[in-house]
Amino acid sequence: MSRPVRIVTTSWDDGHASDLRIAEMLLDRGLRGTFYVPLHPFRDHPALTVPDMRSMSSAGFEIGAHGIDHEILSELSADETLRVTTKCKRVLEDRLGANVSMFCYPRGRYNRTTIRCLQKAGYRGARTTRMGSIHLGFSAFEMPISSQAYPHTPLGYLRNMARGHSLSAMYDYFIDLRFESDWVQLGKKLFDRVLQRGGIWHIYGHSWEIDELGLWDGLKHMLDYASSKDNVLYLTNGGLIDYLTAPSSNPGHNTHVATNENPARP
Ligand SMILES: [Zn+2]
Repeated sequence: MSRPVRIVTTSWDDGHASDLRIAEMLLDRGLRGTFYVPLHPFRDHPALTVPDMRSMSSAGFEIGAHGIDHEILSELSADETLRVTTKCKRVLEDRLGANVSMFCYPRGRYNRTTIRCLQKAGYRGARTTRMGSIHLGFSAFEMPISSQAYPHTPLGYLRNMARGHSLSAMYDYFIDLRFESDWVQLGKKLFDRVLQRGGIWHIYGHSWEIDELGLWDGLKHMLDYASSKDNVLYLTNGGLIDYLTAPSSNPGHNTHVATNENPARP
């Protein structure tokens, strides 16, 4: 019998200078990650510099796009969305001297038009903020996450899952995860399930928030827990799309990523 596919990926939004600390923590543990960076510094915070991003990229991390000025794309016209998503891709590619294929929706907001514009602009996929997922099958432009490095309340988790219309995530949160409210414990429990059953463990966060809320120790603990495991693939978000869409990568597994337009909920 074939072994279940187990994948770990991470992503970090907003391009704050403290992303360097996260990159170092990931590197020390053999973990990979994608850093989603808007062209302009988020809320005028100290931001990653171009040399920072270049050295992260040569260390094996992925830099993804996150708008010009962290625009909420679902509030823009199609023309404006296409302009923003095309420009942030092109400018980041010039800065990095490398291809940028992944996008992350600022504030997690998007609709059908947003997805169409991203496809037109040449992206291969996009990450959402929908929590509670460890499943291998998803639309490339609606990549979900497992959990966030942030102390949500149980109500916060349920609201997030309800917004994503994810009944299975809500059911799991009620029944299997028993309203786990500690973000580190929740991350560890989801990781255990990926080890047992296969799937994707995807943790995301904002380094500025981790700084502000003093979450570094919890994050270290969670990353230690997920690192150096046998038979686990450690990938960037783009690497995850590549892996799941390669026809030879998953024989015998019910794995798929839909790369065509997907019916995004409004
Ligand atoms: Zn953001």
